[in-house]
Amino acid sequence: MSVVRVAIAGSTGSIGTQTLDVVRAANALPGGTRYEITGLGVGSSADALIAQALEFRPATVAVADPARRAEVAAALPFAEVVSDMASLVDGADVVVNAVVGFAGLPVTIETLSAGKRLALANKESLIAAGPVVQPLRATPGAELVPVDSEHCALHQCLRASVHGDPPGNPEVARLVLTASGGPFRGRTMADLAEVTVEQALAHPTWSMGPKITIDSSTLMNKGLEVIEAHELFAIPYDRIEVVVHPQSVVHSMVEFHDGSTIAQLSMPDMRLPIAYSLAYPHRAATPFGRVDWARTGRLDFEVPDTATFRCLDLAYQAGRSGGTAPAWLSAANEVHVEAFLDGRLRWREIAERNEAVLQRYEPSAGTTVADVVAADSQARSRALEMLGAG
Ligand code: MG
Repeated sequence: MSVVRVAIAGSTGSIGTQTLDVVRAANALPGGTRYEITGLGVGSSADALIAQALEFRPATVAVADPARRAEVAAALPFAEVVSDMASLVDGADVVVNAVVGFAGLPVTIETLSAGKRLALANKESLIAAGPVVQPLRATPGAELVPVDSEHCALHQCLRASVHGDPPGNPEVARLVLTASGGPFRGRTMADLAEVTVEQALAHPTWSMGPKITIDSSTLMNKGLEVIEAHELFAIPYDRIEVVVHPQSVVHSMVEFHDGSTIAQLSMPDMRLPIAYSLAYPHRAATPFGRVDWARTGRLDFEVPDTATFRCLDLAYQAGRSGGTAPAWLSAANEVHVEAFLDGRLRWREIAERNEAVLQRYEPSAGTTVADVVAADSQARSRALEMLGAG
């Protein structure tokens, strides 16, 4: 019986709590791999963190908010309480990066630099800082296993090739990412002039946190995932396609140059890609995500409506520009999604504002952390200025 030591950065969010579901379920089964939680980290959700830590007894907990650290330390005398989420990397074999947004970058960098496995749910760090993160993947022992369901699917499909998942697999003709289409699939821009936060948060197939759910409603999530796929697998943008698949059962596909397409199917349940990322290269027995064929009935595919959901093309544009353009777009989008959730921006304005900020992109190579952080903060400033003005 082997023991895998797991740390979770962002443990009280959607991916964090589902990771603990996977650990609980795996540890309840006789034999097989056991998961030991060595570290848990949060921004400021102290109460939820304390409850998790009392159950899983990690050696280290990270609390970013200084105002909550003392109460966490008092409640958890067995744990070392630190401020820095990247400190969770020590003592872990696998680090699940489930931090939301660009704030997840230090955990990505620290995990890969330490030569450990990164189970990456924080797509923004790879998208915004691709030129910084890529060289770290060559650190001996470092391994990046995507938790994002589409990329986890691609990772699995690529195992059908003798070349596997290393970048630039020469047998790949194209990557096909599936998109549910979100809650507004089939609607026109006129239909979507006045949508509420509640409507945008009502995702038809996936249960996720608010930021990614809004990104799904605009197709920005899929656009960011196109960039993420390019960064993960080094396939050119003109060979990465998006197809809308409302049932969310086919999670993505790889077409090889002999014409065969390999797809990965499971019910839409994030616990399946989480379990894959923890157990890789093995497959752990878990009770999640089995396809219910009778209930599924049919699988539909359609072309995305890029006139209504303009964020998808913006992401291709930023990806093709390279450098810090993806960082720029992703940062602007974070500002705009937050403004929409706070009622300061209309839903259709998210795409309009993202486009306006991207047009003001100031090119830089983004090969250092400082470059990427500067691009992120410049784009946020532009977005906030325009929000203030408008
Ligand atoms: Mg996804």
